[in-house]
Amino acid sequence: MTETYEVIVIGGGAAGLSAALVLGRARRRTLVIDAGEPRNAPSAHMQGYLSRDGMAPAEFLAIGREEIARYGVDLVRDRAVDVTKDSDFTVALESGRSVRARRLVIATGLKDELPDVPGLAERFGRDALHCPYCHGWEVRDQAFGVLTTTPLSVHQALMVSQWSKDVTLFLHEVEESELSADDVRRLGVAGVKVVPGAVAEVLVEEDRLTGVRLADGSTHAREALFVAPRAVPQTDLLQRLGAELTETPFGAYPVVDPTGLTSVAGVWAAGNAMGFAEQVVNAAAGGYRAGATINGELLMSDLDAAL
Ligand SMILES: Cc1cc2nc3c(=O)[nH]c(=O)nc-3n(C[C@H](O)[C@H](O)[C@H](O)COP(=O)(O)OP(=O)(O)OC[C@H]3O[C@@H](n4cnc5c(N)ncnc54)[C@H](O)[C@@H]3O)c2cc1C
Repeated sequence: MTETYEVIVIGGGAAGLSAALVLGRARRRTLVIDAGEPRNAPSAHMQGYLSRDGMAPAEFLAIGREEIARYGVDLVRDRAVDVTKDSDFTVALESGRSVRARRLVIATGLKDELPDVPGLAERFGRDALHCPYCHGWEVRDQAFGVLTTTPLSVHQALMVSQWSKDVTLFLHEVEESELSADDVRRLGVAGVKVVPGAVAEVLVEEDRLTGVRLADGSTHAREALFVAPRAVPQTDLLQRLGAELTETPFGAYPVVDPTGLTSVAGVWAAGNAMGFAEQVVNAAAGGYRAGATINGELLMSDLDAAL
């Protein structure tokens, strides 16, 4: 039997749980479908969330799940694999179950695709880092490397120079000639050393990153390596619904209004499924905003229908 909810939230990270919390408290019959693979899972600590700074990401989400349960929100560990729209929405789950709802929140996050450098994936979120706001303080004043993935990595090298004055930019597969004159000038002023040549391996000793080896065999001692993974927004379900997306340098994201409403009536997006730059606190705020908007919108549409 297909169970029916007022709202289905797809994704149970900060964005989805926050939407579910406000919906549950607004007495909306709500289901969260969560595959249980939050983006920051590789990191032991979550930084920069006021009052939660340093908390383990898993603990943060476990508390969120407890909170939504208090208000009668259902949560299933499953994956939404398809969604269709008629008067309402039908969501098909990997388990074979299907569920229906009047409104949807897509909070499916994004996936980080790392360059294929041996040793890198194992260190990601520990001492191979993507975000100075998440990890910069913890590695301040250490010897940083920055692994270039696109010419935009220059920006990352300049940013991290706020946290350490010892920064080396490894050009990897980008040619020095691809850097603009402004980039080269800024790198010089910031004191960032530029090293051409492909990085062949991330070096690790006693469970710590110790440097990189280049394809020419030279090794460079470093304590932390910054890298910008390719962001792959999880927008498959939005695309199935025909939502309009807009290209950015960090992937294609849905076009939304300030509440997160997409171009598909009844479908909101929040968190990293909505935008690349959403940190945990922003994702939670976006989910909350979407949830509160949906509650008001359902109320008004039911009142209008009864007129
Ligand atoms: C290594 C690392 C460290 C980070 N550290 C920090 C930090 O210290 N501070 C900070 O503010 N930010 C940090 N971030 C960023 C942070 O991870 C994101 O801002 C945050 O996870 C966004 O929340 P979200 O709810 O949008 O997505 P997520 O937390 O990724 O949650 C999305 C959820 O949706 C589920 N899902 C996806 N598709 C489906 C589907 N089809 N059906 C059902 N469920 C689905 C996923 O399994 C996941 O559980 C870090 C990121 C990384 C990669």
